[in-house]
Amino acid sequence: MSRSAHPAGPRHADVLPEGHYSAPPADLNALDPKVWARTVNRDGDGVLTVGGRTVTELAEEFGTPAYILDESDFRARARAWRTAFGSDADVFYAGKAFLSRAVVRWLDEEGLNLDVCSGGELATALSAGMDPARIAFHGNNKSVEEITRAVEAGVGRIVLDSFQEIARVAHIAQGLGKRQKAQIRITVGVEAHTHEFIATAHEDQKFGIPLAGGQAAEAVRRALTLDGLELIGIHSHIGSQIFDMSGFEVAAHRVVGLLKDIRDEHGVELPEIDLGGGLGIAYTSSDDPREPHEIAKSLTEIVTRECEAARLRVPRISVEPGRAIVGPTAFTLYEVGTVKPLDGLRTYVSVDGGMSDNIRTALYDAEYSVALVSRTSDAEPMLTRVVGKHCESGDIVVKDAFLPADLAPGDLIAVPATGAYCRSMASNYNHVLRPPVVAVGDGEARVIVRRETEEDLLRLDVG
Ligand SMILES: *Cc1c(COP(=O)(O)O)cnc(C)c1O
Repeated sequence: MSRSAHPAGPRHADVLPEGHYSAPPADLNALDPKVWARTVNRDGDGVLTVGGRTVTELAEEFGTPAYILDESDFRARARAWRTAFGSDADVFYAGKAFLSRAVVRWLDEEGLNLDVCSGGELATALSAGMDPARIAFHGNNKSVEEITRAVEAGVGRIVLDSFQEIARVAHIAQGLGKRQKAQIRITVGVEAHTHEFIATAHEDQKFGIPLAGGQAAEAVRRALTLDGLELIGIHSHIGSQIFDMSGFEVAAHRVVGLLKDIRDEHGVELPEIDLGGGLGIAYTSSDDPREPHEIAKSLTEIVTRECEAARLRVPRISVEPGRAIVGPTAFTLYEVGTVKPLDGLRTYVSVDGGMSDNIRTALYDAEYSVALVSRTSDAEPMLTRVVGKHCESGDIVVKDAFLPADLAPGDLIAVPATGAYCRSMASNYNHVLRPPVVAVGDGEARVIVRRETEEDLLRLDVG
């Protein structure tokens, strides 16, 4: 973008390569509170601290790479969502963003509910003692075995995603002598990502039953006749990393329109609507996420206004934030292994992890920030690309980032806002071992998901 952005005189090039970067930050040692977990700071020696622990101690004790999670920040964000929506609404944390038994306990203690979308996520929640009534079960292809387990356990709701699943869940519940609470997931023709949303033609996806052409109305018609189901509401999830509330506005309008049609046709007012998750967080300083209380106010107003216009009782609202709760609470701590300047281009900084612990850059072209955290530096900024150790040139963690020009092997660097969709999407590519998740707070650090070992790897390989 900005080719004249390098103020201190480019180190390797007169013309900088194309990229997403703008000017280097005024102070490379500064930590923007928007992208870092709440208790992050630097101590007197310039070492980054979180939850009262320095990253140098954490690296020593737990190794690198490691996901370092600020427990008090997680709890504070969970609580902020809970408080913002109050007692007339439910907040379901989307477990796929990051789930572990410790997380389930924190959610439980902070009064949140939980979304799961596989047997494995359900098993994790149940083994941590989550009340099944507070669990919602999602997914576009839940197996018969998964549905059976969920119904037997007594999950609070199953979100139905297809005509076959409506019949399947009803049949299984009836066979177990139960009436399963359920919502129907519809697609409202809105897709939202970051700062834009598109209001047409996005029924072309695997999730949900299209509102268009009367399919959603037909799904409701069927669900209402089945003894194994208690239809409690309609569900809509419009995208991810959303900052612009107008997509939710269109979605709420269309969902309420369906509720009105259901009332007119069946004389039934469904008591709940779920508007999904997808609220954005700051990955870099240029992102400006909204606070939970603003989001709650906005969503509640939209739904209330639409229901009043349709003369409907205002249903109980639920939302499903994943990223917005866990994303900002963790960073990935890496050790620098090599620093390779490419003349006329940029400097490649290799870390001891990569696309196996953060696939989002490769998968979604995601942007991240990065900082030198084991010390401060007064060196000039250099344009870098932070890459991993995998056998793949697309193995990029941070595509364009400024780091101090004296960066050297052995330095620790950290990538903030990696709490969501990093550990949960981690792989064993190249048989690299998945990093641990270390929760810190009040000067204490404890492993909540341990580092994978070669033994773990070999245990699955039965020869
Ligand atoms: C992924 C997902 C969420 C959570 O999305 P975030 O972007 O993490 O908030 C919520 N609901 C459903 C149905 C999802 O698929």
